Amino acid sequence: MSDHPIPATRRVRRDAAPAAPRRLEADIVVLGAGISGISAALEAARLGRRVALVDAGMQLGGQSTGSLLGTFCGFYSNGPEPYRVVYGIVDEMFAHLRKADAFHIRRGRNTFIPLYREQALVRWIEQAVMGAKIDVLLGAALLEVRREGSRIAGLLLATRFGPVELRGAGFVDASGDAALTWAAGFECQEPVTPIMGTLMFILEGFDEAAALKLDRWAMQKRLAEKGDAYGLVRRDGFVFAFPGKGQATVNMTHVETPLDPLGYSRAQAEGRAQADRVVAFLRGEYPEVFADARVRQYGLLGIRQTRWIAARRSLTIDEVRAGVKPADAILRCSWPVELHDRAEDVHWEEFGDDHMHYLPFASMVPREADNLVAAGRCIDGDAAALSSVRVMGPCIAMGAAAAHALDLAGAGSVQQIDIGALQARLADNLTRCDRDP
Ligand SMILES: Cc1cc2nc3c(=O)[nH]c(=O)nc-3n(C[C@H](O)[C@H](O)[C@H](O)COP(=O)(O)OP(=O)(O)OC[C@H]3O[C@@H](n4cnc5c(N)ncnc54)[C@H](O)[C@@H]3O)c2cc1C
Repeated sequence: MSDHPIPATRRVRRDAAPAAPRRLEADIVVLGAGISGISAALEAARLGRRVALVDAGMQLGGQSTGSLLGTFCGFYSNGPEPYRVVYGIVDEMFAHLRKADAFHIRRGRNTFIPLYREQALVRWIEQAVMGAKIDVLLGAALLEVRREGSRIAGLLLATRFGPVELRGAGFVDASGDAALTWAAGFECQEPVTPIMGTLMFILEGFDEAAALKLDRWAMQKRLAEKGDAYGLVRRDGFVFAFPGKGQATVNMTHVETPLDPLGYSRAQAEGRAQADRVVAFLRGEYPEVFADARVRQYGLLGIRQTRWIAARRSLTIDEVRAGVKPADAILRCSWPVELHDRAEDVHWEEFGDDHMHYLPFASMVPREADNLVAAGRCIDGDAAALSSVRVMGPCIAMGAAAAHALDLAGAGSVQQIDIGALQARLADNLTRCDRDP
């Protein structure tokens, strides 16, 4: 007989009416906890603002952690001695990843592309967000927006524990799909030709030294020749091994990502099926490297571009190519055009050593709104221009710009803030040039 007393713990209850929404309040509400929302939330908290951070997913980091991206793009300039172009939360984030042995800087595409391990990133994000005393609502999907004219007053959220009404003074749409702007009834845009998403995955059980020596261009040629035999949709892409970790990330699938719950769920399954066919190709064509390779983890289907805001200004591919610096520039970037507008391949357009392009603040503000700023992959730009500024470096810089703009606007309008004051606060992202590694 155990001497552990079993307490009487049961209590039967029935609630007469559905629970009224729980009410919460913040100065700045960030919808979307991807890397741009994380940057916006941390920057706003560091400005002394009470911040609430909301995400429908159950983990912080959005695609940066859930979709197994594996590399930080758009953080450095081009050329033989690249310098860093994004600051803010980056110093702390890189320091944490280095300490956790989860960071490796690699040269590629005429710049530096750091590799990172997602599990270490998610722990840094959690610690930073909790340390900043941000109110976090995970598993909270946006149901409705309470709008008063050109201002957002609050969000109605559905959580598995009941509804939440979250009121705020300023809002950041970091949802990637302009979910807040759209639900508020403000104008949004959608691509005429769908932009393909990718299901990334991590491989294990392969010969790492041999994988590091693989010729990427020869592999693309083999993909073009043999892809049909393996039922592959995409004929380019790459496998990058993380040195010393026995794992490699694979970016070789292409799937449409419709804004529809049934369609999105089907696409997720299709992405995994494509990933399995890619593994068959790698095993079949490169047995000396991948004969025993297997999928260690499938990422959540990565979405590049679906719906985005209609702002006062739209970044164009001509401005990106010419490196136009607008009067209200808030970040710089030299990442190539990386357009995924065809199932079979990716259109890359790389830039020279001295190239730098810029994002105007006016591309981040829905033109009908006074207290809403977008950050991340749903700002306003044509598909090609957007493809060169939606990688994580510029997303972090956009998060910082959104937080500072709302802080400067206070009870006024983000359409009328002092742009010089905003740029002074964001000076590091516009002018600082640290040579890190
Ligand atoms: C396959 C793929 C590979 C990529 N590879 C790289 C790479 O190697 N390096 C790089 O730098 N960039 C890469 N990118 C680009 C980069 O991932 C993204 O553009 C960037 O992460 C976007 O961040 P974000 O914060 O704007 O959006 P996301 O990371 O998508 O975050 C948006 C968040 O909003 C939440 N959300 C959306 N709607 C709602 C709603 N209605 N209610 C509540 N929450 C909501 C989502 O759950 C999500 O967590 C890649 C993109 C893809 C798709």
